[in-house]
Amino acid sequence: MNKIVIAIDGHSSCGKSTMAKQLASTIGYVYVDTGAMYRAVTLYALRHGMLKGGKIDEAALCRDIEDGKVSVSFQFNQQTGRPDTYLCGERVEDEIRQMEVSNNVSPIAALPFVRSFLTQQQKAMGKDGGIVMDGRDIGTAVFPNAELKIFVTASAEVRAQRRYDELMQKAEADPSAPKPNYAEVLKNVQERDYIDSHREVSPLKKADDALMLDNSNLTREQQSQWLIEQFRKVTGEY
Ligand code: C5P
Repeated sequence: MNKIVIAIDGHSSCGKSTMAKQLASTIGYVYVDTGAMYRAVTLYALRHGMLKGGKIDEAALCRDIEDGKVSVSFQFNQQTGRPDTYLCGERVEDEIRQMEVSNNVSPIAALPFVRSFLTQQQKAMGKDGGIVMDGRDIGTAVFPNAELKIFVTASAEVRAQRRYDELMQKAEADPSAPKPNYAEVLKNVQERDYIDSHREVSPLKKADDALMLDNSNLTREQQSQWLIEQFRKVTGEY
């Protein structure tokens, strides 16, 4: 069978990227983290003073995108075995995971011109299949014909705790990284759920033909086995 497209959508911080990355490496597919692309555009807006007092300078961001000043790409990192995100040629993998970006990304991702700019690139990346792409609208808008679609969720508290643990680990490894606060992380998870599900363009919702995966009580191992099983059902491989 030809290589297929696997779309993994779901709520913030439910471990989509970890599972997508692991699945891609097991089956030899390319992994694309579309959230990282929205985060990179948000970092661009922050760095260029386009986000002030909760307001976005949409005209300036739109102009820079149209003028080709904003470029987002990935480069495979041999050391980590994962793709790193680049903004205008600069590696920004760590910066885009910080709370300042998390707190601003959903309003940026709701802008129609940002979505069309990034979804165009995502469609091109997956046109020949052999891709595992995670995000919010992959199975509904980017690849509505994907052969395998998964919609992942878990309770907001479980997701916030996972995100908090991840940020805490980073803060312990790097004293210059800000220490997370659980209440703030939970609030961010809930706010992003709300904005992502209520925006006008491509809101977060389960595609009718997506399989639902609630991983609140699953170990990583159980989850990987479940995913491989779904891949086997569609392709007959593994
Ligand atoms: O996946 P991650 O949490 O890194 O995504 C960051 C944000 O980017 C999401 O909260 C959402 O607002 C936006 N996003 C999106 N569509 C995607 C991927 C991410 O709107 N396909």
